Formats: sequence, C-alpha cells, structure tokens
Amino acid sequence: MEYLKGLNPSQRAAVEQTKGPVMIVAGAGSGKTRVITYRVAHLIRTGVDPFNLLVLTFTNKAAKEMRNRIMDVVGSEAKNIWMGTFHSVFAKILRFEANKIGYPTNFTIYDTDDSKSLIRSILKEQQLDDKLYNANFVYNRISSAKNNLISAAEYQKNAQIQSEDFSSGRGRLGEIYHTYTQRCFKAGAMDFDDILFKTNVLLREHPDVLYKYQNKFKYLMVDEYQDTNYSQYLIVKKLAAINENLCVVGDDAQSIYAFRGANIQNILNFEKDYPDLKVFKLEQNYRSTQNIVNVANSIIANNKNQLKKNVFSENEDGDKIKIARAFSDNEEGKIVAESIIQERSLKGLKYQDFAILYRTNAQSRAMEEALRKLNVPYKIYGGMSFYQRKEIKDLIAYFRLTFNPNDEEALKRVINYPKRGIGDTSMERIIIAADKNNTTPWEIIKDAPSYLESRTAAPAGGFATMIQSFQAVAKHQSAYDAALHIAQHSGLLKDLYSDKSIEGLSRYENIQELLNGIKEFSEREDLEERGLDIFMQDVALLTNDDNDKNPDADTVSLMTIHSAKGLEFPHVYIVGLEENLFPSQMSVNSRSDLEEERRLFYVAITRAEKKLTISYATSRYRWGTLTSCEPSRFIDEIDARYLELAYGEQQKSIERNPFFADRLESPGVDSFSKPKPKTGALKTTSMLPKAHVPSAGFAPSDTSGLQVGMEVEHERFGYGKVINIEGSKSDIKATIFFKELGQKQLLLKFAKLRIV
Ligand code: ATP
Ligand code: MG
Repeated sequence: MEYLKGLNPSQRAAVEQTKGPVMIVAGAGSGKTRVITYRVAHLIRTGVDPFNLLVLTFTNKAAKEMRNRIMDVVGSEAKNIWMGTFHSVFAKILRFEANKIGYPTNFTIYDTDDSKSLIRSILKEQQLDDKLYNANFVYNRISSAKNNLISAAEYQKNAQIQSEDFSSGRGRLGEIYHTYTQRCFKAGAMDFDDILFKTNVLLREHPDVLYKYQNKFKYLMVDEYQDTNYSQYLIVKKLAAINENLCVVGDDAQSIYAFRGANIQNILNFEKDYPDLKVFKLEQNYRSTQNIVNVANSIIANNKNQLKKNVFSENEDGDKIKIARAFSDNEEGKIVAESIIQERSLKGLKYQDFAILYRTNAQSRAMEEALRKLNVPYKIYGGMSFYQRKEIKDLIAYFRLTFNPNDEEALKRVINYPKRGIGDTSMERIIIAADKNNTTPWEIIKDAPSYLESRTAAPAGGFATMIQSFQAVAKHQSAYDAALHIAQHSGLLKDLYSDKSIEGLSRYENIQELLNGIKEFSEREDLEERGLDIFMQDVALLTNDDNDKNPDADTVSLMTIHSAKGLEFPHVYIVGLEENLFPSQMSVNSRSDLEEERRLFYVAITRAEKKLTISYATSRYRWGTLTSCEPSRFIDEIDARYLELAYGEQQKSIERNPFFADRLESPGVDSFSKPKPKTGALKTTSMLPKAHVPSAGFAPSDTSGLQVGMEVEHERFGYGKVINIEGSKSDIKATIFFKELGQKQLLLKFAKLRIV
C-alpha cells in the first residue's frame, strides 16, 4: 500500500474505512479533501469499479484537481469515476432521464440572468409593481422554495408561507412562482435550482430510476458537506440508502452558504441519520504556517455556535501576518500589486503563488486596474466569466434556439438582435398570442401569418425560417461548421465586425475565441459524438474555471472568498477589511449573519500557506460617492501576537493601534518592505529604517553590465536586487528592491551604486 504513505494515522484510518457511513468534521487544511482523494484511489486499487463511484465536490476546479491526483495512482481508469459538482453530475443524469419527468433530453439550462429576465416579463404581464415584486427578490424567494423542495402548488397551499407573503403585501408570489414554473416547463428549460429540485422529483416519483442509481453508485463521497442544502442532502441520502457506503467531509466553521439555503444542520444531524456512523477526527493542519493557523483560530473563537475543534500546525512559525492601510481602494490595489512584484522577485516565486481575495465581486476592479498598470498577469475566477459576456450569450442563444426553439429566454434575447424589426411591442404581442393559444412563442412565429398581423408576421416568420435552416445545418455538419454558419447567417458576426471601437473589437475576438473552442471540441478524439448539440449540453454549467483557455498560464488568482473555498495558495492577500464591507452592511445587525461573515473571514485566512496580508482602505467609492471607511472589527479580533509590529512611521496611528502597519506616504517606498522591529518596543524613532552606512565612498559608477536579478549596493539605500531595467542610453532606469527600504526606481547615470 505504498500509495497510502502520504497519510497520517487518522487520515489513513478514514481512508481504509470504506464500508458504511463515515463522517469527518475537521478544521481547514487538515486533509479532508486529501482523504476523499486517497479513498477513491484506494477503492479502485482494492477492486471497486470506478463506474460505481460518485464523488461530489464544490467546484469543478476541485473535481478536476482530484481526478488528476487519482489518475496518478490508478491511471486512466480514473476517467470513469462520476465526479463533479452536484449541478454538473445531476444535470448529466437528468439528460438521460428527462423524458420521465416530461422534459426533452435537450432541455436548456437557464442561468440566473435568464431566470430573472423571465420573472421580469411575468411581472410586466401581470402588471405587478416591480418595486414590491423586485425581480431579484422574487428569484431568491423561488430559489429558496425549490431548495427546500417546496413546489409552486405546495407554496400556494402552505398556510405559513401564504400568511408571510400576504402580511408583507406580496400575496401574489405563489402565483408568480406557478407561472414561472409553467413557462420554464413549456420552454423546455430548467433553472439552476431545478437541476436539484427535478432530480428529487425524479428519484421520488420513479422508484425504478432511484433503484438503478442506488445500485450504480455503490460508494458516495461528498466534500464540503457543511454547505449542502436540503435538496442536496436528500439526493445524497436517497442514493446512499441501500449500500450506505457514504463518506462526507466538512467543517462547520467553513459554512458560508446559508444565504443560499445551505443548512449546517445537515452535518450536525448526520449522526442521527446514521447511528452506525464512524467519525474520524483530523486535527493537524498541513497547509499553513503556525502563525496563520493561530490567527484563524483566534478569529473563529469569537463565534459562539461552533463545534469544538483542535487545530494545530507543525509547520514553521512563518512570517507574521501583515496589515496594510491605504487611503483609497486604488491605492490598496497598488500596494497589493507592488507587493506581489516584490515578493515574487525576491523569493523567486511565480505569479500563481499569489491570490487576492475579496468579499464582493465589484472589488476586483481596483485590483485589476493596479495589476494591469504594473503588467502583472492575473485571472479572475467566478464573476464575469467568459460565458457570461453579452456577445457570447447572444451566440449561445442562437445555438440554444437551434436545438430547443421553445426556449423563450433565448428567443427574447436574439429575436431582434441583430435588429430585424421585431421590437419589444412585437415580442409582447407574440407572448400574449402564445398565452392565449396555450402554446409557446416559437409555435406562434413558426406559423406567424395565422396569429400575427402582417407587420409583425413577416419579420417574425423570417426569423423562424432562419432558425429552421440552422436546425438543418446542425444536423448534418460538424459542431464547428454549424457554429460558424450560425454566427455568420444570424448576422451577429457582421454586426460585431462593423463595430470598430475597442470594446467592439474585443467582442468580436471573444466570438472568435468561442469558435476556436468549438473547433477544438470538434476535433477531440476521445468523444464519439462531437455535434454542436453535445457541445451545448455542458455550456450552461460552465464557469470560469472550466473554460480556462490556458490553464498553465502563470497568473495571479483573483476571486471572491466564496469561490476560494477548498483552495490554497502560498501567498494570500485579503483586501477590503472595512466595516460595512467585510463584515457586510447587511450582516452586522444579527448574530447569526455576523457569525457567517466571520466564518467567511476564517475561510479566507485559511487559504494561505506561507504568508497572509490583510488590507483596508480609509476611503472608497461606494454607490457612486466617496465614503470614508473604518477598519473592520475582524482586524481587532486578531490576536496581536501574530501580527507583524507596525513600522512606526506614523506615531498617530500607532498610538491608536500599534499593530496597524501604516503605509509611508512618500512615493516609491512600500509598507510591505518595512523592516521588522527587533523588539516589541513602540518607540517610533527606533523603528525608522536606519540609513545604510557605506563602507567606502560611492560615486556614480560603471553599471553598464547591470542586469535584472543582480545584487547591488547603494550608498544610502543599502543592499538590494535589480528587478527591472528600462530606457536607453543616458536614460536607463533600474527598479531596485532594497532590503530595507523597498522598491525604488533610480536613474542609473546618477545612481551611486555598485554591483556586489
Ligand atoms: P479545507 O477545509 O480548506 O477544504 P482540507 O481539510 O480539505 O482543507 P486538504 O486540502 O485536503 O485539506 O489539505 C490541505 C493541504 O495539506 C494540502 O496541500 C494537502 O496535500 C496537505 N496534506 C494533508 N494531509 C497531509 C499529510 N498527511 N501529509 C502531507 N501533506 C498533507
Ligand atoms: Mg477541502
């Protein structure tokens, strides 16, 4: 069992306990995911068919990484394991079984935008006040009903829900939910929550199907179990009911999706569901330095509702945690970007060793701008991913219509793009006609002259004919040829091509990039079927980490803390630690919300392996106005022993809180590079950087042989390393990172410098 060597005794015990229900609740970085990975490898090595394994992960990225590791142990058989997120695995199963619940196998998946747009049109049709019935609100309400397995009919019958809705003046929510459900069904579409909801329906109403999958998935494993919602919990429970070979791992301290219906009780109740449960404890954190683990522990100790856990690290103490203050969000971005450049060159790291984590997606802007200015390559995970961009969604909508012309949201999206004289009013008429005749908008436009007046009928009929021609092409041509045909003949490519603005160009490039991706797909040899319809099946579930065009590129990772769950990076920057941002404004009035924010902070901290930096700005633009910000209460909660003492440049801030490292205002000197004080003494003068006392006289020196990477000594600034050289002839400038002072740019002809 050579392959089990990389496990400690408790991890190994959990891996070898392959039969019966198993639960591991343990702190961050203690090897929970590693246990699942090794367990899968172990099961296969001991004779279990990979087709009988179901592994549910929280992100597609995690599934991909896990599969690669397992492949190292068991070889290409690992490809046959059913592994992925709940949504991707069950969307796949629903494709096989869709007919049983009245859906076509080529059903469309509506993303959040589609769902909200559909809700908006229902609100408009029913002439409801869109402030009271705000589309986001309605969407969340429906989503939470579905995640609790409450159907539209049950919603309307449930007395408690009804009285809640009526007392808030929103008595028609049930009716909206009902219409929404019917419209999705008619359009052959499921929204994200439907994937789990309909899976439950399928397993509940078709015992033969349930039995089939119970026998197929003889072993189930679920990572990040603390963030499953009721709907996911039930699916797992049902599938595991015969064999009960179920292993779940999680950490209650990392439960951060309550706002989306995740139910921490699922982990707490596991023992009740499975009295024969074997529980394994993992206490050693292998990921992070002791300082980082200690900081994380000191933060989470402030939460009342927590299972007691011992988490320790035997790794080195490591650097203390740094806190940086900036006067604006832009400057915060600059501090972080400069720090990454310095750390990377000083320590010989790669960009991929760094991650910047933030509370809200919008915070990426300042970070992105700063990184771009300094030419630091980066990649955003989650958020506005490639497939979320307008032009991509437009072309995809044409593809969707080609395979499922009843798809109402796709139809609305492109029926008049590029413009063809079917405006909003025409579209409304089409929808009204569809409702009146109890059919879909597609049926109306397909037979336009029978239903619509001629002004609308002509262009609408023309559009339907075009989609039908796409259907014929898609049937006979390769995915790429069909996609190209549709891009050209829909007029979309031409429309984008004629827009010569920078944005237009980038949109055109994005379409080209999508076509490139489809071309690559058309040429894949491992697939039997390579039609555009097959390509489309996965598209709705693609998130940024899937469509990673160049996964090997060396880039800094940017993401929200929510999407960082389960991941790890040597150097982590958590930015925007300000009151009303983190913790968020909405959370500060209730203990349970505040505790969820604190768990989020705990998740962020525990992503770091070697070095953690936390920053905040004293002012930033929010909702269009410059507001001043207070440092987050979470900063005060950090045990000061693990913080790097402030460099005492600014007496005032030190008096306020000795542990805030303030940024020097003078340009070219960065707070991150401030020397550590030797003792905890707070006498500011003693902490000012001592000017280096030169050992010999310096004169502007012959630096013609100077190259990036060389060590140098400067008369006043001391020792440093060259990180960049630019300019020409008499104007050559070198950027040097000085050990004591940080980064400076010097004009070489004047610099009193020598190569050491
Ligand atoms: P999280 O709660 O953040 O999801 P986790 O409990 O799933 O964390 P893992 O990601 O499995 O933790 O492990 C954290 C890191 O520690 C990984 O890099 C993993 O490879 C390493 N690790 C875990 N156990 C061991 C071990 N026994 N020996 C060496 N490295 C280990
Ligand atoms: Mg994990």
